[in-house]
Amino acid sequence: MNKKKSIDYIIENSSNPYLKEVHGNSNQAFTMEHIEGIFEYEHGTRLATVFKKEFELLKRNDIITELESEHGNSLALIIETESQKFELEELKKNLEILTAKLERLSVIDGLTNIANRRHFDNFIDFSWRCAMRDSQTLSILMIDVDHFKPYNDNYGHQKGDDCLKKVAATLNRFGKRAKDLVARYGGEEFAFILSNTTKFHLLKIAEDIRKAIENMNITHEYSDVSDRVTISVGASICTPSKENSQEILLQAADKGLYQAKKMGRNIVKFHEIST
Ligand code: GH3
Ligand code: MG
Ligand code: MG
Repeated sequence: MNKKKSIDYIIENSSNPYLKEVHGNSNQAFTMEHIEGIFEYEHGTRLATVFKKEFELLKRNDIITELESEHGNSLALIIETESQKFELEELKKNLEILTAKLERLSVIDGLTNIANRRHFDNFIDFSWRCAMRDSQTLSILMIDVDHFKPYNDNYGHQKGDDCLKKVAATLNRFGKRAKDLVARYGGEEFAFILSNTTKFHLLKIAEDIRKAIENMNITHEYSDVSDRVTISVGASICTPSKENSQEILLQAADKGLYQAKKMGRNIVKFHEIST
């Protein structure tokens, strides 16, 4: 397409006074800005935008044609391919940045598909403030797979991963209330936040969870405790106030877990927060 010819055509066939005026006064070659202004005047911004895009394409094709006439077909093709590759590299870089950003914002653990540690940290913060405001209890269960190292060592890392996925899915079934959260705390450790519950109810859920994992019947021939995969659970509860803290609540659940391990594993152990 010949640019000059098409511009003359536009002027000749136009009733746009602005167009004629610009043409008459400047008496010089039209720039893209002229053309865009005229188009916008006549057809509104939307059509002008479409036109602009078309012209960008045209410009690009002109460059290729020029390259072709100067360097021949094949070199032009190489240059075009190179420029496309460059654009692709730019896109890939942007995509990598975006993926990293998304990962940082993510709240889901990549392996088990349940809440990750970041989500847990934010959620306990939020739950703590809500419970303090409403004078309700906040509870934590710390859950750890028993003898998981020998499981991994003997069945392999892939089987270990599969086992963690299954355990997480079962635990997650118990965290269905809006104010509850089951999260992967790290490695083969999980944590359960429960809002507004009693100690009695907390211990009932903890025992139900322990049994549910046992009843999954995942064979573990290298455990000292059982012939299948089991968990130990530490439990703690408090009514948040200025006198205690999330750290104290978490430490208490952790102490409960430690005692459960010491007492032989595959049990729930409650740790009272001393006031
Ligand atoms: P205990 O009953 O005292 O908890 O003993 P344990 O063997 O479970 O505990 P230990 O801390 O010695 O070992 C935990 C193991 O969990 C070590 C590590 O190989 C495994 N592990 C942690 N994260 C992952 C994971 O993402 N995938 C797999 N496959 N294994 C993991
Ligand atoms: Mg363990
Ligand atoms: Mg552990």
